[in-house]
Amino acid sequence: MSSTKWVYLFEEGTSDMRGLLGGKGANLAEMTRIGLPVPPGFTITTEACNAYLASGSDFPEGTLDQAFAALQKLEAATGKKFGDKANPLLVSVRSGAAISMPGMMDTILNLGLNDESVLGLAELTGDERFAYDCYRRFIQMFSNVVLDIEHAHFDEVVEKHKRKLSLIFDYEIPAKELQEIISEYKVIVKQAKGFEFPQDVKEQLLMAIKAVFDSWNNQRAIVYRKINKIDDSLGTAVNVQCMAFGNMGQDCGTGVAFTRNPSTGEKELYGEFLVNAQGEDVVAGIRTPMPISKLKEELPGVYQQFVETCQNLENHYRDLQDIEFTVEKGRLFMLQTRNGKRTARASVRVAVEMVNEGLITKEEALLRVDAEQINQLLHRQIDPGVKLEPIAVGLPASPGAASGKVVFDADLAEKAGQNGEKVVLVRAETTPDDIHGIVYAQGVLTSRGGMTSHAAVVARGMGKPCVCGCEAVKIDVNNGCFSVNDIVVKDGDIITIDGATGRVMLGEVPMIEPTLSDDFEKLLQWADETKTLTVRANADTPVDAARAREFGAEGIGLCRTEHMFMAQERLPIVQEMIMAENREDREKALAGLLPFQRDDFYGILKAMAPYPVTIRLLDPPLHEFLPDRESLLLEIAEMKHQHADEKLLLEKEELLKKIHSLSEANPMLGHRGCRLGLTYPEIYRMQARAIFEAILLLKNEGIKTEAEIELPLIMDITELSMLKAEILDVYEEFKKDTGAELEFAVGTMLELPRACLVTDELATEAEFFSFGTNDLTQTTFGFSRDDAEGKFIPVYIEKKIIKDNPFAVLDRKGVGSLMRMAVEKARKTREGVLMGICGEHGGEPSSIEFCHLLGLNYVSCSPYRIPVARLAAAQARLKNK
Ligand code: PEP
Ligand code: MG
Repeated sequence: MSSTKWVYLFEEGTSDMRGLLGGKGANLAEMTRIGLPVPPGFTITTEACNAYLASGSDFPEGTLDQAFAALQKLEAATGKKFGDKANPLLVSVRSGAAISMPGMMDTILNLGLNDESVLGLAELTGDERFAYDCYRRFIQMFSNVVLDIEHAHFDEVVEKHKRKLSLIFDYEIPAKELQEIISEYKVIVKQAKGFEFPQDVKEQLLMAIKAVFDSWNNQRAIVYRKINKIDDSLGTAVNVQCMAFGNMGQDCGTGVAFTRNPSTGEKELYGEFLVNAQGEDVVAGIRTPMPISKLKEELPGVYQQFVETCQNLENHYRDLQDIEFTVEKGRLFMLQTRNGKRTARASVRVAVEMVNEGLITKEEALLRVDAEQINQLLHRQIDPGVKLEPIAVGLPASPGAASGKVVFDADLAEKAGQNGEKVVLVRAETTPDDIHGIVYAQGVLTSRGGMTSHAAVVARGMGKPCVCGCEAVKIDVNNGCFSVNDIVVKDGDIITIDGATGRVMLGEVPMIEPTLSDDFEKLLQWADETKTLTVRANADTPVDAARAREFGAEGIGLCRTEHMFMAQERLPIVQEMIMAENREDREKALAGLLPFQRDDFYGILKAMAPYPVTIRLLDPPLHEFLPDRESLLLEIAEMKHQHADEKLLLEKEELLKKIHSLSEANPMLGHRGCRLGLTYPEIYRMQARAIFEAILLLKNEGIKTEAEIELPLIMDITELSMLKAEILDVYEEFKKDTGAELEFAVGTMLELPRACLVTDELATEAEFFSFGTNDLTQTTFGFSRDDAEGKFIPVYIEKKIIKDNPFAVLDRKGVGSLMRMAVEKARKTREGVLMGICGEHGGEPSSIEFCHLLGLNYVSCSPYRIPVARLAAAQARLKNK
């Protein structure tokens, strides 16, 4: 007999055992341990699940013996007997992975009922209706989860009987009618499966446990894990627990509550309660429940006990708790507690207030807030100055505002989203099968369900705006529309939803950019006190620079000057420069660009003063500044057809010739970066002159600047030496012209593997380095980003060749090794030389952690990601102290 322990009674576990017992199992054990009213139960471990899945579908040796031994303990504890005619023990069977996956896995309630034990239950409770209601629910749930028969078949039967008796609610169906329903349910099972609904309660239990294990690999669980980057190998535990009944009358019920508001973070008990209801009724969003505060009026004693229990749980776990409970005949039972999912706004507020309350430390607060999630706080809101005319108001389930075309189907939402269209998914309620549609929608609107319904929980987790339970919205899927009173909104019409207030508007509504709350500022201030990395911004204009400073940037790590070449009034001059036949003509055109560039640099250095600004000299291949070849060909054909002016036609044909001559097989690896500076030195010379003139103007205004002139795509010291010499030559000229002495630095990007291998040489000339990990990833992997991301990276991730998209999350093994080598070699030559990162990875938390570990001086990212980067940099320090 195997000595492995596969089964733990609740009293045998603790909250530390979540890897083995799953989150739900570990917390049920913890609540039992601290003496809260938890119905007895046991947990079958995630290890048992993994062994079961690995074997195909065999329970590892000893599992069943241990489970039935544990079941006997439950019988002893309750005085009931599993499958007994007179006093039956009923259990729930629920999944619970180490990381909570709401709505992803399956639950079975009332297991242990059969044609005989249902009589015992009726007799014992003196409530025949209750007993048959449990049995009906059980058959339906079991048939759905274990036997894979769709709910719709059973729902139809119930609806038919309600219609017959003109009833509105399920709980009004009398016992006799329920018995008929049960008979019809059994016929459905027999027809679908070819066998009778299982009457042997042990067989029911085994089938249920298997189904929970198997559900680890159902489609929606796989999708959820993929979206949330949860390891597929964790497995789920199974919790078997004595039932507490919330459906035994008006002094019963079931609810879900958060110890603080999960949307705003406000310190208030927040939740919903359904009288005379069981289990999943609240979460499923089928009946709209009442707010928890109403429980105070209905069952004041229970409410008081509940409030105290919530407070205890929060103090015990030192975090916001998401709690499920049931009241059976006025008696409170706790069914689950876990750290509650919350919006970014709530996450920040709760963390900061818990520090103020002395519950947690600043370090804990910094580590609690998900750096990636706070990106949501930088989401758009409806402009408060605009007068709105809402057509309906629902529950404000997930903040932020969204506009888009109405879509009623998750598949269509996905398709439209993938095509870059903005859509709002409108549904009566969502289920886990709609997840892929929610991912691609701008927001979600449902007509049913509360703040803890599936749509609300999922949308909050994803940071998508969501309005729930908007009952005025009557959806007519068959006719592709919804109506609110006499307003009809069709599939494809544009609406706006405001997840912060629950309002729904027709058409698009003006929005404003977000600002940082006081709590958020406080948290970021703690982050700044903690982190060692500096956070800079990638910004190309004074406006972006100013925004970056508002978000806390301490410098610009990358100013891409090509964006300045693209602006409207400059493009013709740039084109003239490209079309020039010789250096003299090119210089003439460049002279026209110089004043523009000087003003650009003046503006951006001023906006960022006294912090450093890295100005990168021109990088992209020149054809990017010329019209597209295909459209020019068409234009010429049209001009010929119309017998256009000869001179004009000739000009166009010259342009076409130039485009041909500049066209490259592989522009990403072609004539770009410093290679442009070496073939056309006058371009970089003009840019250097413009930078010097800007610095001098600011110097004369008494403004201190720190300009860093940066050369792109360097691979060898000779390239760097030659270009640095050009820049210094321009400086000498400038000094002669103006008599002014300036301070500036010259350095280089590290974007090519070869550059990383020779930084010891590069450092003899370079005064700073910045990793351009966009290009460095392309050239290390040999992936052309534009082709790879659309075509094969998703397949590579699917096939587990790579874990993440390397353009989003820095590849520590390959690209990271080159970076490590580059840092070591550079600093050997030039001790303490300034090194940073300005590729997009500079705003991604796990990449930022790697940069911290490498000992870089700064990360640079887009202005809107600055707060994320500040927090991630602090977390990197705390995690690696
Ligand atoms: C890079 O290559 O990482 C970089 C920042 O340069 P760009 O994205 O402009 O090529
Ligand atoms: Mg680059």
